[in-house]
Amino acid sequence: MQNLCVLGATGSIGDSTLDVVRRHPDKYNVRSLSAYSSVAKMLTLCQEFLPDIVVLVKPDAAKALKRQLDALSLEHIVVHSGEQALIDIASCDKTQVVMSAIVGASGLLPTLAAVKHDKRVLLANKEALVTSGQIFIDALKNSKAELLPIDSEHNAIFQCLPEYQQRHIGQARIEDSGISKILLTGSGGPFRTTPLEQFDDITPAQACAHPNWDMGRKISVDSATMMNKGLEFIEAKWLFNLQPDDIQVVLHPQSTIHSMVQYKDGSVIAQMGNPDMRTPIAHAMAFPDRIESGVEPFDFFSCKNFEFGQADFARYPNLKLAIDACRSGQGACTALNAANEISVDAFLNEKIKFTDISKVNEHVMQKFMDVDITCIDDVVALDRQARDAAHQWVSKLLEQKA
Ligand code: NDP
Ligand code: MG
Repeated sequence: MQNLCVLGATGSIGDSTLDVVRRHPDKYNVRSLSAYSSVAKMLTLCQEFLPDIVVLVKPDAAKALKRQLDALSLEHIVVHSGEQALIDIASCDKTQVVMSAIVGASGLLPTLAAVKHDKRVLLANKEALVTSGQIFIDALKNSKAELLPIDSEHNAIFQCLPEYQQRHIGQARIEDSGISKILLTGSGGPFRTTPLEQFDDITPAQACAHPNWDMGRKISVDSATMMNKGLEFIEAKWLFNLQPDDIQVVLHPQSTIHSMVQYKDGSVIAQMGNPDMRTPIAHAMAFPDRIESGVEPFDFFSCKNFEFGQADFARYPNLKLAIDACRSGQGACTALNAANEISVDAFLNEKIKFTDISKVNEHVMQKFMDVDITCIDDVVALDRQARDAAHQWVSKLLEQKA
């Protein structure tokens, strides 16, 4: 029986994780859960999974949850608030497995804490790795933690790698295993064929309606702009110890192949399946074993098309920005991620246009790309500065609109 901490338990990845857990009560025990402020959903999860500790970052929400738990005679469930409490549950001695599924750079410190405390870390929160890069990988090297990718592409790549590479995440050299390229697939999102002249009018609801995947709002917008693929490009660099030229983005609208590894003898190994996050989650939870995930078996006879293409940077300027950031260095990656969190939030709140997202991102990335990052305090400081700069740029766009 393994004790599990789910960071971001009320989100889309949290849902899928707890659905896998629900199918294996003999294998996994939910020890702790976290969210930002979702009281009602957390109350339901507490009733079902009976965790020992729950964190709601927002103090008012934590108080409200505690009152409601007490009223249901669940007063033995301890409720904490604040960011330090996330770090505490992620590093707790009684927990062996940590699902890192907070959205955005807010997940960085608790995820790093889980790594430093030798947990099996299931990494969905790509922003944590994008913002800290080498610092994260060094922490992993200096620990006994096991890092398993949850992002479907990275989980697919992981599954297509030889065991030596799987056991030395972030460190093994791909050339030692005869690997010539990592093929990172992406669907192209909901606007793959939308005329570019219509991009200014794209609404948050349209951007959040992904054709193949059901996800949280931030990553849905990132998928529509392909910033998600850009963040995944940077994530892949660190997870698999790659150079930017080792990675090729391949558009594959059906999302059946979740990514591929090409070897120097001409072989290409792909991982396929229905687009359902319970597959990579179950894979990472049970690795190296396999467990049921609840995902339907893939039906090749109902799969009519199998298309592949190149991503066009005029359609997806955010993808180009992220690849440029990856080539540039950590300052650019940290700043770009922070800017993107602010610009996407501004778009979701209908303050800026869909096409403004890349403008804010580019401006902030250029401003901070030469900043040196050598420790986690540098990351936190740059993240804050880049957010401030992005907010200012959003305000400027709002003034222009008025
Ligand atoms: P959601 O928006 O659905 O869920 C986010 C979770 O994080 C919620 O539990 C939310 O709590 C919590 N949260 C939000 N802000 C904070 C904060 N400041 N501090 C602490 N907790 C916070 O996101 P997803 O589940 O879609 O994505 C989670 C991560 O997984 C992201 O990094 C994403 O890129 C990655 N990912 C997601 C995939 C997917 O299919 N959804 C696929 C691959 C990767 P509350 O409910 O209270 O707001
Ligand atoms: Mg992905």
